[in-house]
Amino acid sequence: MTEPLFRDDAYLRAAPATVIAVTPEGGVVLDRTVFYAQGGGQPGDVGRLLRQDGSAIQVANTVYGPDRASIVHVPAPDQAPLQVGEQVTAELDWERRFPRMRVHTALHLLSVVLPYPVTGGSIGDGDGRLDFDIQEAGLDKAELTEKLHALVDRDAPVSFRWITDEELDANPGLVKTMSVKPPRGSGRVRLVEIDGIDLQPCGGTHVRRTGEIGQVVVSDIEKKGKQNRRVRIRLG
Ligand SMILES: [Zn+2]
Repeated sequence: MTEPLFRDDAYLRAAPATVIAVTPEGGVVLDRTVFYAQGGGQPGDVGRLLRQDGSAIQVANTVYGPDRASIVHVPAPDQAPLQVGEQVTAELDWERRFPRMRVHTALHLLSVVLPYPVTGGSIGDGDGRLDFDIQEAGLDKAELTEKLHALVDRDAPVSFRWITDEELDANPGLVKTMSVKPPRGSGRVRLVEIDGIDLQPCGGTHVRRTGEIGQVVVSDIEKKGKQNRRVRIRLG
């Protein structure tokens, strides 16, 4: 299995690692990685694996293996094959990742500005969206943008902590405080807290403070069926 270094430190851009498997399609499994694996609406990271001879393997995407415990670095076409046991340095493309962290954290804030059930969402490059289960129309882009900015400007710290299912059971008030119900059964839950603003279970990558989100606008509101509104945001 792969140690997901991005989960403890989303700001880690590179780390040495060992190749522990190569899939039949050429996917590279490392013992540890800074590359976020595609999931939760956030795309997998791109970047490169630096070899000891100074050459580099370009990584086009990062996904979970079928066991959900190993992380597969999918090489771009025509890259040289790596050997099991080889030492590499995994270095992600920060120019792609950091805007995704800003958008991801901004979507947490959007779910506070619009406190309705979320039915879906995704993160792109410099933009993202959430789908809300709401009937009424009349959402105003400018007004929502203003509310988002107010939360960004508070520059609230973003932190996370792990709690066990037992701790969760012992603190029923916690579930009430959370905007999303945590998944049960895996034994522990990763809670992401935006101080005084939001608390929810999440495995994604976030910025350290809301101020790092910077300029963000609500760019579009679409009607998706009778009881669904798709709200898009874009970094300025
Ligand atoms: Zn999150």
